[in-house]
Amino acid sequence: MRERLVAGNWKMHGSLVENKALLDGVVAGLTGLEGVRCAVCVPYPYLFQAQFALQNTSIQWGAQNMSQYEKGAYTGEVSGAMLRDFGCTFVIVGHSERRALFGEDDATVAAKFVAAQKAGLTPILCVGESLAEREQGITQQVVERQIQAVVDQAGLDGFRHCVIAYEPVWAIGTGKTATPEQAQEVHAFIRGLFAPHDAALAQSLVILYGGSVKGSNAAQLFAMPDIDGGLIGGASLNAEEFVTICKAA
Ligand code: PGA
Repeated sequence: MRERLVAGNWKMHGSLVENKALLDGVVAGLTGLEGVRCAVCVPYPYLFQAQFALQNTSIQWGAQNMSQYEKGAYTGEVSGAMLRDFGCTFVIVGHSERRALFGEDDATVAAKFVAAQKAGLTPILCVGESLAEREQGITQQVVERQIQAVVDQAGLDGFRHCVIAYEPVWAIGTGKTATPEQAQEVHAFIRGLFAPHDAALAQSLVILYGGSVKGSNAAQLFAMPDIDGGLIGGASLNAEEFVTICKAA
């Protein structure tokens, strides 16, 4: 049995006051929940607030990005060690918004993946195709290329301590969720990429689905055999909704 995981991605949302209510609601709603690991990935300035609110709970926290460099003259960057300093377990790498809006290419994402693990963090590696790519029928090629770039730098062993999130770009923040069957197909494809090299590793990979997951569609998605949980954007900003999704896993 693979672990179930639901991670919230708050993106660039929140304030001290709003976060307090959200974190309190999430803690209250998830206390005592067993069989699923839950986490929130918050903006850097709120890491301490998340740590303070969650440190004595079973809920974990993380960041949404990090530098591929360890330290030095990199103005504005945040290192993996800094994230560890604030108790982060996870860091999202290669989210499609970072790839599309901030120019992160496959090699940069892979370097961040390696740097995260070196710092003792568990990277949540995001992959997924755009609408145009899906329409061209190259979803599998895109996802394979994105994963291969990480294998090139981290090796297959790098995948023993990570989480993969399949997030079709056309489903992110659009309200247009992939059907459970569409998602399952890509999840099975991802697992299948690893199977010829290491069947046990392929079976153990935790693969999340992300893209307009809501309380109302989570259970159907999570019921698919290769979907092990979710990476939740918009719906993670509402405590009740996020708790419903965690319980569905
Ligand atoms: P969404 O975002 O749930 O708002 O679609 C998911 C994500 O970008 O991780």
